[in-house]
Amino acid sequence: MSDEKFDLIVIGGGPGGYVAAIRAAQLDMKVACVDKRASWGGTCLNVGCIPSKALLHSSEKFIETRDHLAEHGVKTGKVSLDLAAMMARKDQVVADLTQGIAFLFKKNKVTPFHGAARITGPGTVEVVGDNDDIQKLQAGKILIATGSEVAPLPGVAIDEKQIVSSTGALTLGKVPKRLVVVGGGYIGLEMGSVWRRLGSDVTVVEFLDTIVPAMDAEVAKQLHHSLEKQGFEFRLGTKVAGAETSKSGVTLSLEPAQGGETENFECDVVLVSIGRLPYTDGLGLDEIGVNRDNRGVISVDGRFETNVPGIFAIGDVIPGPMLAHKAEDEGVVAVEMMAGQSGHINYDAIPAVVYTAPEASSVGRTEEQLKADGVDYNVGKFPFMANSRARANGDTEGFVKILADATTDAVLGVHIIGPDAGMLIAELALAMEFGASAEDIARTCHAHPTLNEAVKEAALATDGRALHI
Ligand code: FAD
Repeated sequence: MSDEKFDLIVIGGGPGGYVAAIRAAQLDMKVACVDKRASWGGTCLNVGCIPSKALLHSSEKFIETRDHLAEHGVKTGKVSLDLAAMMARKDQVVADLTQGIAFLFKKNKVTPFHGAARITGPGTVEVVGDNDDIQKLQAGKILIATGSEVAPLPGVAIDEKQIVSSTGALTLGKVPKRLVVVGGGYIGLEMGSVWRRLGSDVTVVEFLDTIVPAMDAEVAKQLHHSLEKQGFEFRLGTKVAGAETSKSGVTLSLEPAQGGETENFECDVVLVSIGRLPYTDGLGLDEIGVNRDNRGVISVDGRFETNVPGIFAIGDVIPGPMLAHKAEDEGVVAVEMMAGQSGHINYDAIPAVVYTAPEASSVGRTEEQLKADGVDYNVGKFPFMANSRARANGDTEGFVKILADATTDAVLGVHIIGPDAGMLIAELALAMEFGASAEDIARTCHAHPTLNEAVKEAALATDGRALHI
């Protein structure tokens, strides 16, 4: 048992927590970071962003080699899948990156603790290790960065074999013949894409009448169409009422979302991905009186402090999009403010990306939100079909859509579906951060031939001046 004293204890070593710990150490705080996982990086590195992107990349290479290289004049022999090798590569990527964080902690003199943390009082944390050994830590400030967990679906018990969460979907031992994805959000569509490419028949069951409902409706519609072309089946406006597993597979009971006749749907594996909920189990928040809403989301003020002085929270446990880069930025800002700096985060300019093929990305408000807010806006759209680089690459699906204020020309939102949409959105997040107008983007010289020229053309199109269409 020890009674180590720190300036700051960060609970959770995900992208929010570990980045906050490093920044706090840079600001000369004595910092501890606690995680109950054996490896650093939280959901994102261990069972989220990174392993999913590794599998998306590998499965895209498989499809590219099998179906598309010939059109470039590249001949291959019979292409076959080595799933074990693909999984092993993904695991190695994760292992390398999580070990990288241990190195960064050492370099920045962050003291690491492995074990489950519980806040026992103002400034005191108990860490219970694997062997039930207890360490008592003290600090002036505590930062909760314990992330989120999979939202459960009533009547559908996850066993991580036949009925899996995203975590199980990252480690399936063989390609399921029939996969049902419950939930048409980005995680379900990404994991569905991996297994579709590797050979599964994929059906997405979604309660609402659209997939990716938070995205601009035109982008959502195009993504739906593109995925359908790849063989996805969609059952929109449908809810899953229950599931029964047997040796031969899973029988799902499906019902129309508004109620009606139940139908049975047979498959081999079900992926439940209807969203995520903040994770604060065992932290002792009720005992110390930290306010949360009925979904468990912790309330914080503009300095990320909870209603209990000295206890702060960031990332997936507080309001806002559950995204790694949002958690990271909040971590940095929270500790900078603790250190007396002003800190800065602009919630209007947080990009979001769906890493399907084509990718979909967005920053700022959607057209539907602008309408609801009663804002007058101009729309500039430019299709990748008219972009020379997309044509040269043979990757022409999708468009760039810029929404600019009708009076001031300020960029209010940008929505992209197409090749490298996830990279292209960075320019627009920067533009919005600097308060750019569509004219600013249109007058910025963009290299030729690049996909980025579609961004410039969309900016010109807000004023009816696109040049290549
Ligand atoms: P987390 O990363 O969840 O980390 C919290 C950590 O706290 C965990 O390691 C947990 O073990 C630890 N912890 C919890 N309770 C305790 C306790 N009592 N004591 C000690 N430790 C504790 N986001 C993106 O931006 N881009 C993507 O491409 C993307 N892809 C995703 C794909 C999948 C399949 C999933 C599931 C998520 C994805 N996300 C993505 C979301 C992203 O992973 C999360 O938004 C991000 O990890 C949140 O960071 P965090 O630091 O708040 O929490």
